[in-house]
Amino acid sequence: MKIGILALQGAFLEHRNALESLGVNCQEIRQKSDLSGISALVLPGGESTVQGKLLHSLDLFSDLQKEIKEGLPVLATCAGLILLAQEIEGSSSPHLATLPVCVKRNAYGRQLGSFECTSTVGDIQDFPHTFIRAPYITRVSEGVEILSKVEDHIVGVSYQKQIGLAFHPEMTKDLRIHKMFLDLI
Ligand code: GLN
Repeated sequence: MKIGILALQGAFLEHRNALESLGVNCQEIRQKSDLSGISALVLPGGESTVQGKLLHSLDLFSDLQKEIKEGLPVLATCAGLILLAQEIEGSSSPHLATLPVCVKRNAYGRQLGSFECTSTVGDIQDFPHTFIRAPYITRVSEGVEILSKVEDHIVGVSYQKQIGLAFHPEMTKDLRIHKMFLDLI
């Protein structure tokens, strides 16, 4: 099994390290041909506007969107969650729009918006949550399961084979979320 990691910008290396330490083969995705043979996809954190533009200019957008709609399992963190969201507050142009939630970007403020805490994620207790200029989820549609909440805001969801998290599990030593993703695949 090979997991594709979108490697255009942002924290893709940290996901690669986490998955490789669980014994998984990874394929960095930078062009269309990199998509062949992958069983799942990671969309890392970074800057969603930049990543969204690069998806178009590298002609990856339609193929990725189609694969996700057809059931390719995805783990999306922070900017990755924004790429998946069907709605972005204050914007009329979402990106891949495969996850029926609404997100608010930089929801904790732009500069002072980085913090850590612990919370439950589905069946996982006391998972360290690292937030960096993070979004949170303001609305979910039917069928979306809420995995994690912090201060009453939704920060983790799953929908079919998509997991969207506002925080960065790849920046901790705790591999339980990456393991959960492997179970989903
Ligand atoms: N603020 C970024 C955005 O809007 C997300 C930050 C992150 O991925 N750590 O895309």
